[in-house]
Amino acid sequence: MESKGSLQTGLFGPWSGSDARALARKVERIVVRGDKRKYKKFRVARFYGGCATADCVGCFLRCRFCWVRSSNRFPEKYGKFYSPEEVVAKLKKLNASLYRISSGEPTIGRTHLIRVLELLDGPFLLETNGVLLDRDYCSLLSSFRNLHVRLSFKGVDEKTFRSTTGASGFKYQVEAAINLTDYKISFHPAIISLYPEDQRRRLAKFLIDLGVKPTLQFYKKSSKVDGFFEVEKFVWYPFLKERGFSSPDTTFYTQGQKT
Ligand code: SF4
Repeated sequence: MESKGSLQTGLFGPWSGSDARALARKVERIVVRGDKRKYKKFRVARFYGGCATADCVGCFLRCRFCWVRSSNRFPEKYGKFYSPEEVVAKLKKLNASLYRISSGEPTIGRTHLIRVLELLDGPFLLETNGVLLDRDYCSLLSSFRNLHVRLSFKGVDEKTFRSTTGASGFKYQVEAAINLTDYKISFHPAIISLYPEDQRRRLAKFLIDLGVKPTLQFYKKSSKVDGFFEVEKFVWYPFLKERGFSSPDTTFYTQGQKT
């Protein structure tokens, strides 16, 4: 039995196609207080050759392959509130050459994130689903030359986005790619390898036709960035079985929910 007031009463069902930005507002009411945001840990991650990482609490999507389970489902129960100054002090202490915020969705709590960026002097990698990156948000982000955005597509169209995340909002990801291009923010799109190459190519063409143009200003170009997308390898975690999938059945992700 899950707690009263919890944002979700089952693994994925209750989101049932709700608008992702409306869900974000609900989560924000729990994980943001003034200019403070909830975090649960500060650590050096092995990625990108050693990266000072702040693990935030809270995301409004419910990606089936997400490795962060409890704190995103029950944000009210995890972490504590930190001011931007406290976050930056903790990140700097870790003494790494790259900063990032991970675990939840870092764009929740715009005032908090912008202040963190103002206070940090080194390169910052914003790994985001992009749903909240409207033109106002991108306009603010465009003033930071130490910023690179990794925009992680969660579907190849609205149907697969819903199947994967439990919410509606593929259009917001597309808008984010356009806005990042328009505001000349260094960024690249990423997508999980669950989606076959032909579907990834179709999405890439769709975005290119809309004028989307990734730039890799300080993000090290690696073999992972294959043409248009960074293709993130799908990892079969045991918890996926609990979510109703048996490897290697990925039909649900790639073709959308049948119901
Ligand atoms: S957007 Fe990221 S943090 Fe949020 S549920 Fe999906 S994988 Fe997890």
